[in-house]
Amino acid sequence: MTAAEVTWLNDDTVQLRQPKTSHWEAPFLFLLFGRNRAILLDSGATADEAVFPLRSTVEKLIQTWLRRNPARFIRPYPLVVAHTHAHGDHIAGDPLLADRPGTTLVGVTPAEVISFFGFPTWPDAVVEFDLGDRVLDVIGAPGHESSAVVFFDRATGILFTGDTVCPGNLYVRDRSPFVATIDRLIRFRDAPPAPVRTVLGAHIEMSTEPGVDYPSGTVDQPNEAPLALPPSILDDIRKALRKPGKRVVRDRFIVVDEARAEAS
Ligand SMILES: [Zn+2]
Repeated sequence: MTAAEVTWLNDDTVQLRQPKTSHWEAPFLFLLFGRNRAILLDSGATADEAVFPLRSTVEKLIQTWLRRNPARFIRPYPLVVAHTHAHGDHIAGDPLLADRPGTTLVGVTPAEVISFFGFPTWPDAVVEFDLGDRVLDVIGAPGHESSAVVFFDRATGILFTGDTVCPGNLYVRDRSPFVATIDRLIRFRDAPPAPVRTVLGAHIEMSTEPGVDYPSGTVDQPNEAPLALPPSILDDIRKALRKPGKRVVRDRFIVVDEARAEAS
């Protein structure tokens, strides 16, 4: 068993990473606490607690937060498990949390995501999700995967982008919705309910050497690029999407058009 790599980004926000030694994808997960409930963004790449102890890690973090905030919660303190998108390395841990008391799992199909968050139109509407004195904006983001959403946390200014935007390969499964998603994120960033300060995706695949990534399956990444990207990265991605070719390499990401990759 390998423990999660846990980083408290502030008193109410935890970044978790599933270690490379437990799964080469090493996805990042985020746990956000509000007055009325917490939300876990993604559940990792394994359903085996012995490989990656998701359940016990989340439990410990919630107990820690509740100890520090004795007057700020209702009992039982609810947990919502949502996902940036439905690929296996982001949802595999769901069964570990399914029977946890007070826990709601958001389904992983587009219909389930739309209905849970209450999107009046999809994917263009942006909907609010309130944790209690902490409002998230949920933004439809299909293109990498059809049920993908991006979460914006007004309290920290963090845009949680999953695999849609990360320092790695941006796999474009469906080009026209992907382009529309980046445009939607740019519009949101430029007229936000609170300033957008940073972009956190779900993987690191780039090295510190500009334009050089670690190939799929790499377990040892000694010179990883940082996870955080500036909000201006969205403009760089939009520009890269205008270039022809199945692989467009930029310093901090690589756009991979999967349809074009298959066609060639
Ligand atoms: Zn993915």
